[in-house]
Amino acid sequence: MHQAFHLDTRTLLITGITVATILIGVLFGLARRQEGMQALRLWGWTMLAFETGLGLVTLRGLLPDALSILLADALLFAAALLAMRSVRSFEGRPAPDPQGWLIAGAGCLLAGYYVVVAPHETARIVAFSSVFALLLARVSIHLFRSLPDFDRPPQAFTATVLALFAALSTVRAVATLLHDRPVDDILAPDHLQSLSVLAQMAVTLAATLGILWMEIHRLQSRLFALATVDGLTGILNRRALMDAARREISRCARSGEPLGVAMLDLDHFKRINDRYGHPVGDRVLRAFADTLRGVVRPHDVLGRYGGEEFVLVMPAAGLDAAVAVAERCRQAIAALNLESDGNGISFTVSAGVAVYKADGEDIEALIAAADAALYRAKAGGRNRVAAAVGSSGAIC
Ligand code: GH3
Ligand code: MG
Ligand code: MG
Repeated sequence: MHQAFHLDTRTLLITGITVATILIGVLFGLARRQEGMQALRLWGWTMLAFETGLGLVTLRGLLPDALSILLADALLFAAALLAMRSVRSFEGRPAPDPQGWLIAGAGCLLAGYYVVVAPHETARIVAFSSVFALLLARVSIHLFRSLPDFDRPPQAFTATVLALFAALSTVRAVATLLHDRPVDDILAPDHLQSLSVLAQMAVTLAATLGILWMEIHRLQSRLFALATVDGLTGILNRRALMDAARREISRCARSGEPLGVAMLDLDHFKRINDRYGHPVGDRVLRAFADTLRGVVRPHDVLGRYGGEEFVLVMPAAGLDAAVAVAERCRQAIAALNLESDGNGISFTVSAGVAVYKADGEDIEALIAAADAALYRAKAGGRNRVAAAVGSSGAIC
């Protein structure tokens, strides 16, 4: 072995275990302080099982083989099962994994057979490494398969690292099989052995960072949703609506396309609350938003402006098109019938429509114009659509 490249397995193991201990502390610490970090807690257990397993391997010789090797193998299998649980907890469902348990159980039996019944170190390493590779590959495949549901980079990174880990374990199985060289002492100076410990350290560290990245990403998405989505109706909240409206206006200003804005307000909504109670009022608001979502075009922007006031921004819609969309919304709402304790609840909506430039050049001016038109729709008897004065002033 080249002296310059001397890697001492024991030093590597101690370094790896130290780094892992810090990581485990961080994982459990984060999971303890923060609600809903189940994945991190489970990954903490994954690392704990993995590192305890590795620790037992290093204690080989000090403890009886049956204890150190078999327990180590079982712990490493358990780590792979926990890794699957951790990864699945990102999907928010508790995941029984009978297939994984079956594979791990079979692995334990095989390892037990080659340690206790017919001791054969090469066969045991091959059996362990193959089963371990299989368990890791399942986690990696699961992550790759669920990619479309999640954001790609953090998950693809973690999946790739786990695939590498599975590949390493496979290489170990094949190399052991080809050389048929039982390793009497795992800590004996052996370049390949050291490299494999180093690689293992690198992949466990990278996988942990991958899981942390996935968690950060999940929290970011959640924060983004909390900051932009209205909790009751699931459509954009006022701030996100205004931001999106400004973007659409500047886009239409550049392209010269028209743009329409409709302000929709439920008619006599207070009466619904007073008569049926606020929870029913909330249901009405949700049904209202759901119905509108189904009516508007995919590129229209719908948001909750206030209590029972909604704004619809319609890029590429001139006055006629915008009024037509608002009218479609009005009709869809009028046709709606909700059930509550045997009562059929129907309700109506009024809308005011304004168009870019004729009624205003920014979202505030457009909303003010649409609101003035809405006022006239209400005054005109409700359940109708009115256009702003700047565009035509007609009650449709
Ligand atoms: P109009 O036809 O003139 O619009 O009459 P209205 O009763 O709809 O209008 P008003 O502004 O008097 O009442 C709006 C009501 O909307 C009052 C408020 O309690 C209710 N509201 C606002 N936000 C919510 C909410 O999130 N849930 C429920 N259930 N009610 C809400
Ligand atoms: Mg109202
Ligand atoms: Mg109102």
